[in-house]
Parts: sequence; C-alpha cells; structure tokens
Amino acid sequence: MTDTPTPKEPGQLYIVSAPSGAGKTSLVSALLQRTDHIGVSVSHTTRAMRPGEENGVNYHFVAESEFEAMIARGEFFEHAWVFDRHYGTSRPAVETRLLAGEDVILEIDWQGAQQVREQRPDARSIFILPPSREALRFRLSSRGQDDAATIDRRMRDAISEMSHFDEFDYVVINDRFDEALEELSSIIRAERCRRARIQTTRGALLSELLSHEPPVE
Ligand code: GDP
Ligand code: ADP
Ligand code: 5GP
Repeated sequence: MTDTPTPKEPGQLYIVSAPSGAGKTSLVSALLQRTDHIGVSVSHTTRAMRPGEENGVNYHFVAESEFEAMIARGEFFEHAWVFDRHYGTSRPAVETRLLAGEDVILEIDWQGAQQVREQRPDARSIFILPPSREALRFRLSSRGQDDAATIDRRMRDAISEMSHFDEFDYVVINDRFDEALEELSSIIRAERCRRARIQTTRGALLSELLSHEPPVE
C-alpha cells in the first residue's frame, strides 16, 4: 500500500488517455489496487456492453435518448463522440469524491481531456502509449472482445488519438506492464509530495518543526 497522509484538502483530478488497447484500463485498475485514497470515475456510454462487462462497474450503459437528456440537463462534466458512440463523465460523482479528499482518475479520450483542462486547469494529465503499432494491434486482438472491423477502426483512430500526446503533462510507454505501472504510481506519489499539498495536509507537522519553542527533550 502506498503510504499517504490523511487527506484534508480536495483530492487531485487526473486524466488518463490512450489509444484503445494501449492498456489504460489494466494499468489504472492495477494502480487502484495498490494505492489508497484514489478512485476511477465510471463513465456513461451508449456503446454495447462487452462480454464480461457489468453495468455500473465498467460503465453506466445508457440509451442514446437518456444520454441526450443528460446533456440537455447539463449533467456532464465532459462528453464526447468516440467510435460513433457517446461517452461522458457525470459531474456530481466526480465533484463529490474530490471534495471528500479522494483523488479521481478520468479514463477519457483527448476531446474530453481538452474539456476538463478548460474547466479544471489544476487537473494533471497522463497519456499512455503502446511500445509499437504491432503491439497495439496484437493487444486489441488478444483482448478478444472486438471483431476485426472494430479493431481496424480502432487502429485507424489510434493515430489521431496519439497525435494529441503533446497536450498531456506526463507520458507513460506501456511496454513492460510492471514498469509502466511503477511509472504511473510514481506520478501519483510525486503529485502527493507537492509542497502546496503538504502545507495543507501536514500543517501540524510543519508548525511543530518550524516552531521557535525549544524542542521537547
Ligand atoms: P478501450 O479504451 O479500448 O477500453 O475502450 P472504451 O470503449 O472503454 O473507451 C472508448 C473511448 O472512449 C476511449 O477513447 C476512452 O478514452 C473514451 N472514454 C471513455 N470514457 C470516457 C468519458 O467519460 N469521457 C470521454 N470524453 N471519453 C471517454
Ligand atoms: P485500454 O483500456 O487502453 O483499451 P486494456 O487495459 O483493455 O486497454 O488492454 C488491452 C489488452 O492489452 C488487454 O488484453 C491487456 O491485458 C493487454 N495489455 C495491457 N498492458 C499490456 C502490456 N504491458 N503487455 C502486454 N499486454 C498488455
Ligand atoms: P471502449 O469502448 O473501448 O471502452 O473505450 C473507447 C474509448 O472511449 C477509450 O479511448 C476511452 O478512453 C474513451 N472513453 C471512455 N469513457 C469516456 C468518457 O466518459 N469520456 C470520453 N471523452 N471518452 C471516454
């Protein structure tokens, strides 16, 4: 478990983007297992559920009409049209968790990342790249959840998704999984050591260390 202080300030918002198949879902779920005070936002989507997926766990799977009603009610923090389907992050779920001091990860595409940065310039963004095009195709196929036409479409879209890597604060190349996980974990740990955050979360310690009172023997 990653050692973290008791959070006393709003959590940090993270954006994680990658071309489909680069490994972001696997990396984020491995990160959550070894890190306290962090969670991933469950998006809404109008795409079909894959075998093994569960409503409310992987996504909130909703009909197009329901998604459009949510847009009209202003319920999305961000939303985008990806692979001919709607995907979006609902606002209340993210805000409640941040206010409770939990860090929140958004696994979203580059269009959503742009919308989030505009509203929350303090969000930290991480882009995950595959080690090669061949590896990306292999991972999409070996995941075994998409047909050949879907995989071809995702490979074509991968190039346009990857062209946005330079809008992100950090880049992790997911070649060896464990190394990529260490890198992702290091980014979170470094963010938690930022001076401004420590001043809020460790105020009592800093006051004691900087006190002009004689040290207690
Ligand atoms: P995967 O990336 O292969 O696991 O495929 P998904 O169907 O899970 O995701 C499809 C695309 O939608 C990806 O580019 C995601 O980053 C994007 N996506 C997922 N959730 C959201 C969201 O809440 N908002 C936005 N804007 N994009 C999302
Ligand atoms: P994404 O969420 O980006 O679409 P996934 O996490 O679903 O990607 O990963 C796609 C496939 O690649 C999965 O079958 C996963 O187990 C596999 N995978 C992820 N990272 C690696 C890696 N470093 N080496 C080999 N296979 C990987
Ligand atoms: P998949 O359909 O394979 O689960 O996801 C395809 C893509 O949709 C991924 O690149 C993922 O990041 C993106 N995506 C998933 N949820 C959201 C979301 O809520 N908002 C945006 N903008 N993109 C999303």
